[in-house]
Amino acid sequence: MDITFTPEEERFRAEARAWLAANAPKTQPPEHDLKARSEFDRAWQRTLYEAGYAGISWPKEYGGRGASLMEQLIWYEEFARSGAHEPSTLFVGLNHGGPTLIARGSDAQKAFHLPKILRGEVIWCQGFSEPGAGSDLAGLSTRAVIDGDDLVVTGQKIWTSFAQIAEFQELLVRTDPEAPKHKGITWVICPMGLPGMELREIKTMGGGSDFCEVFYDEVRIPRANIVGALNDGWNVAMSTLSFERGTAFLSEQVRLTRLVEQLIDMARHTPLGGAATALADDEMARRLALLRAEVEALRAMTYRSVSRTARTGVPSAEASLIRLFFSELQQRVFALAMELLGPQILAWDADGAPSRITAQHGGAASWVSHYLTAFASTIAAGSKDIQRNIIGDRILGLPR
Ligand SMILES: Cc1cc2nc3c(=O)[nH]c(=O)nc-3n(C[C@H](O)[C@H](O)[C@H](O)COP(=O)(O)OP(=O)(O)OC[C@H]3O[C@@H](n4cnc5c(N)ncnc54)[C@H](O)[C@@H]3O)c2cc1C
Repeated sequence: MDITFTPEEERFRAEARAWLAANAPKTQPPEHDLKARSEFDRAWQRTLYEAGYAGISWPKEYGGRGASLMEQLIWYEEFARSGAHEPSTLFVGLNHGGPTLIARGSDAQKAFHLPKILRGEVIWCQGFSEPGAGSDLAGLSTRAVIDGDDLVVTGQKIWTSFAQIAEFQELLVRTDPEAPKHKGITWVICPMGLPGMELREIKTMGGGSDFCEVFYDEVRIPRANIVGALNDGWNVAMSTLSFERGTAFLSEQVRLTRLVEQLIDMARHTPLGGAATALADDEMARRLALLRAEVEALRAMTYRSVSRTARTGVPSAEASLIRLFFSELQQRVFALAMELLGPQILAWDADGAPSRITAQHGGAASWVSHYLTAFASTIAAGSKDIQRNIIGDRILGLPR
């Protein structure tokens, strides 16, 4: 592994740092007002686009920056370091929908959708999971039958993040119920709001309603919206998921490093039992030091994985290892914050939860919000058990 940066990479870091310091929004949108959040994200993405920082990993021919893996790593580190708001409502378009169209879309689909995604003009959502098909995604049962130039879709999706504000959905439907389950699936672009679609928001224990159930009752989608071939949607979906588990989580990791430092700072100012401050308590100091060491270990694992992928050109199953370690570490960080804050966390009110920025300033309410939200991180994008299966199978070579 080579963890030194070349002079060009160092130049890119300095340029990115200076640009972010001058241009990143100094405010954050309200966390639980999705509409306001999406407007904020669209404007911020437009600024990134105009400065040449949108689609950092997208090829130049599609308007992206075409950055190398090391530059992507640097960009995500600097982005998180600057404290800039993550335009998370645009995540699916930028990290799944767009890259999937680049890999598998028709020329017409690329020409229509890619510039809009990159400029932050449209929000995409992901309609993969169903009540009976999550980890076992290939077991999905939402049906589509061909009728003339349309697919006619009937069924249900669940946990569709940002469905209520999205313009498009990447939708997986079963088009051949007779074929083996991985074979009869089709990946289609579904414009939101079509006749026959109904959304129901799901409220989380963290107080927000970031995701929805989506119902389809004979919804007609033009066949021209199929990406890849009819019944080849499983292969198309796999290219999408490999993006989801790739570099997209880098800035979250760097953000966690910052949060651990904030937690240590909080321990300097919070009394604990007989000790004047939590940091003066040996056991608490030991646990905080361990968290600091663990985020450093996470960083080293990430560098190693990026360095190897840059050398070989092939993303490895290590991404599952990093994802698993990150998501469980994140839960330990927020659990320790709850211990530090003690009974004051009981005053937290889901409906009045203030924005995440408060956490960055040590506010108790946002630490609670982080703690509750982090439960989802060992479920979303492949549960911790599925990640362990991948590690056992592809890294350790254990028998099935
Ligand atoms: C915050 C959040 C946002 C999400 N956003 C979206 C979205 O935008 N679009 C979308 O389509 N989906 C989304 N999801 C859904 C997510 O992809 C699924 O929740 C996830 O794939 C797990 O599926 P499931 O909930 O059906 O659980 P299940 O698959 O039913 O799993 C239940 C339990 O069984 C375990 N398990 C299942 N299979 C195995 C196995 N083979 N070996 C060992 N253990 C196993 C799991 O680990 C879990 O503990 C989101 C989820 C969350 C939490």
